Amino acid sequence: MKTIVKDKIWLSSPHMGLMEQKYVKEAFDSNWVAPLGPNVNLFEKAIADYMDEKVYVAALSSGTAAIHLALSLLGVTRGDEVLCQSFTFSASANPILYLGATPIFVDSERHTWNISPLLLQRAIKQRISLGRKPKAIVAVHLYGMPYKIEEIRKIADHFEIPIVEDSAEALGSTYYGSKCGSFGDIGILSFNGNKIITTSGGGALVTKNSILKEKAVFLATQARDNAPHYQHSQVGYNYRMSNVLAGIGRGQMEVLEDRVNARRSNFNYYKENLAGLSNIEFLEEQENFKSNRWLTCILTPNFETREQIRLALQEEEIESRPLWKPMHLQPIFSKYPNYQDGTSEDLFERGLCLPSGSNLSLEDLDRVISIINKILVR
Ligand SMILES: *Cc1c(COP(=O)(O)O)cnc(C)c1O
Repeated sequence: MKTIVKDKIWLSSPHMGLMEQKYVKEAFDSNWVAPLGPNVNLFEKAIADYMDEKVYVAALSSGTAAIHLALSLLGVTRGDEVLCQSFTFSASANPILYLGATPIFVDSERHTWNISPLLLQRAIKQRISLGRKPKAIVAVHLYGMPYKIEEIRKIADHFEIPIVEDSAEALGSTYYGSKCGSFGDIGILSFNGNKIITTSGGGALVTKNSILKEKAVFLATQARDNAPHYQHSQVGYNYRMSNVLAGIGRGQMEVLEDRVNARRSNFNYYKENLAGLSNIEFLEEQENFKSNRWLTCILTPNFETREQIRLALQEEEIESRPLWKPMHLQPIFSKYPNYQDGTSEDLFERGLCLPSGSNLSLEDLDRVISIINKILVR
């Protein structure tokens, strides 16, 4: 008998459209093989045009670089405190340490899995009472679900603390019809290989302030003063995006809406076919919140079930992953203050991200679903 070798199903893999290679070829044909050029400008314009509000975009080498520059532009420096959503990927918090500042972690609420307004307010009040008013808030639209934008904005404005909106996972998500990435004092995007669209590696800083964009580009290109020789009065970085990779980004922007629709369809398909199992929960959208459903996540009854499913999928060459391990539980970050009520710890224990790429077939999804069904019906 022949053994059937099944193809690996990835959690979230790149999905190219039809135009990316053409734009990359343009970079080669014109010899703009450098961290500047027409593709960089046109990619920035495509992102800016996509946002509903008038914004300025700086294309950078990564989302992490964008967060680093954003915090720096907001004046975060050695000894400062920065509030950061605990339930996130480490790249939201690492740049706080790059700047010699202290992260203060804040837990999530259950409606969006993102930063809790209640705990944020409590944290700010306590830090202020200790004489350490935080310099910035890093809020994250995790898995593409917008955080409680209005509530967080109200608190931030009340205490006059700027927001870095980590929209790395949420390009294509909207809140009351407006695009994520444009809500922060500074927004950031990521185009890493696993994100909803990709340049293989890349990111962007989004701001409504044209001067901030210019400063971001200045810092991202080694902070060169205006002089014929190389002169520097500030620490600079090499964070600009390559014109070759920006060509991929231009092509990807043309298919962004398709990618969002495909990922949302994945979510709906999983939900329709798993919701019959009363012991599985999905993250629902609040009214006027629209998630790009970057990753479909399920909550299982307990850690053991989550692991059972994960290992059964792995056995069948299917990649799944536990939800983000909260930052306040990470060895590198556990010594910093945190304000939590157990929400993200519970999500981490019970939650699993399912294969969610926009290039998955119904057959792929059915393979995943049948394995989960077998375990949960038992
Ligand atoms: C991916 C990601 C980042 C970092 O983006 P890179 O482009 O990989 O540096 C930051 N925050 C979150 C929440 C992410 O998922």
